Amino acid sequence: MQLKDLIRQTAAQFRKAGITSPVLDVQILAGFVLNKDKSWLIANSDYRLNSAQLKLINDLAKKRLSRVPIAYILKTKEFYGLDFFTNDSVLIPRNETETLVEWSIKLTPKNAKVLDIGTGSGAIAIAIKKNRADLAITATDISVKAINLARKNADNILGKDKIQFTTSDLFNKINSKFDLIIANLPYVPNNMKNKISPEAKTEPKVALFGGESNGLDIYSRFFAETPKYLSKGGYLLIECDNFQKTEIADLAKENKLKLIRKDYLHLAFKH
Ligand code: GLN
Repeated sequence: MQLKDLIRQTAAQFRKAGITSPVLDVQILAGFVLNKDKSWLIANSDYRLNSAQLKLINDLAKKRLSRVPIAYILKTKEFYGLDFFTNDSVLIPRNETETLVEWSIKLTPKNAKVLDIGTGSGAIAIAIKKNRADLAITATDISVKAINLARKNADNILGKDKIQFTTSDLFNKINSKFDLIIANLPYVPNNMKNKISPEAKTEPKVALFGGESNGLDIYSRFFAETPKYLSKGGYLLIECDNFQKTEIADLAKENKLKLIRKDYLHLAFKH
């Protein structure tokens, strides 16, 4: 079979299944098996796939048809220009979260102490460290499996022992102050469980859902403790849903944090 026919047929199946970027997804899977980039696939659409290649691509396509995200199928996801290992113990790094890395790199003074709470795959902490080797970064997660994966990502991208990883429920295992705290905690309201995409349903619930009604149970706990661990003059950067921003700003104010910056999903505070 020629590449163009495989792409056309598989994309049609993907589209029928409700997958939102059908052509791109089959190109990614075919490119992965053939070890070629998208421009090669387009320039060589007459390429004849042998039966081994065809089987490999079809096996991956079958997974995608059952709505397993590309990042879990390929076990990797690009974030801030770096390649992270992913698995279904962690949320797939979202490109919109790159804002937190951008702000961290710009706001943080030299040699500062940084804490990333709920690090998951380690994406935020590792991307910051890659661009700011001067910072002393600690990263925590409640999940042991997430910390194991984050450590593997750090070893791969930064080399050994560049970030201190700790399994911790929020600040439980933390006993010092930081100049910058970053948190992308679970904030999807529990009542969205049936409404999220089939792909998001394959991600860990512990990384997504933030409680009943407004989804802010974990952030409420987090804000109540933050002033104890944030230096005076230090920064706090968080991601939340757009509809939660007013409530989050109130939580922050109650805990003596001043809003200094915001975009659609992110807020920055100063202590
Ligand atoms: N924005 C993410 C989503 O909708 C949720 C990320 C999170 O809970 N921290 O999939």
